[in-house]
Amino acid sequence: MSDRGTSLADRIKGGLYGVAVGDALGGTTEFMSAKEIRRKYGYLTDIVGGGVWDLEPGEVTDDTMMTLCVAEGILDCPDDPMASIGKRFLAWYRSDPKDIGNIIRRAFARYDGHWFEAAFLADQDLGRSAGNGSLMRCLPVALAYADPDRVDRMSRMQSKMTHYDERCNEACGLYNRIALRLLNGEELHPALAAETQGTPYASALAEAPDCEPTGFVVDTLRWALYCLQHRLRRRRAACRQSRRRQRHDRRDCRRAGGRVLRLRRHPGRVCGHHLDQGPAGRRVRAADGAAAGCRPLKGVHNLWSPSFSFGPKRMLSADEAFVKAGA
Ligand SMILES: [Mg+2]
Repeated sequence: MSDRGTSLADRIKGGLYGVAVGDALGGTTEFMSAKEIRRKYGYLTDIVGGGVWDLEPGEVTDDTMMTLCVAEGILDCPDDPMASIGKRFLAWYRSDPKDIGNIIRRAFARYDGHWFEAAFLADQDLGRSAGNGSLMRCLPVALAYADPDRVDRMSRMQSKMTHYDERCNEACGLYNRIALRLLNGEELHPALAAETQGTPYASALAEAPDCEPTGFVVDTLRWALYCLQHRLRRRRAACRQSRRRQRHDRRDCRRAGGRVLRLRRHPGRVCGHHLDQGPAGRRVRAADGAAAGCRPLKGVHNLWSPSFSFGPKRMLSADEAFVKAGA
């Protein structure tokens, strides 16, 4: 997403707010499958709380709290922040948070003055430590340092404090190198391509990963990259399509009242949402449009579902268009 003209300070704030907003939104659906989410929420865009953590609307989880620990630790001691980050980790741990990952909990329990040793022992205890817990909190590193090598090194360092597995450290480095490019004003897609080239993550830009979006750090990052690469494009296209339709709807409703309408700009192509409620209150269903020989707009055939009703001023929002387009 282009943010030309946005100040560096605003981009940094945007990154941190983004962590908190995404966390408050996503905490609601944590541990739910895509199918369960669709069934319960459709396409969730509102911060409603609830979920497995019984969140208040707007309440954040460990992702945001540990991100703040990293940010404050770096601000305290930018040259060597490990001790100050660790001090904040432990203070948060002792506050008895409701949401704390198994690997991180075990590393904290094993900490005895040496963070890397604690991470190693946690890995030995659990038999694995390639979760996404260090990835979720690593962004402040990219916001704090300007040199890419230093960003990479510090990203790995904060990861190794709790996650022994090298794949976690690699993921944090890659993620933050992308973030640094964006912070410096690069466009999203070239930045993704530049940093994933020649890595196991490159294929995630081309096609959907052949794995579930689990808590395994590689799965997490592959899906995150795929969504960045593809969903934003589809979402923007859906927004443009929705705005265009709304303009057409308003124009056509003005011109033709409550009749079944045909788009003048696209003769022969009319979609369910161009069907209006008659002046006498008669509901015209999408099926009526099909009976009238109209075709749905490309990519939104689901809108023909007769169960989707349209009132006289019922316009598709961008989110609805996105969902209905099957995104
Ligand atoms: Mg969380």
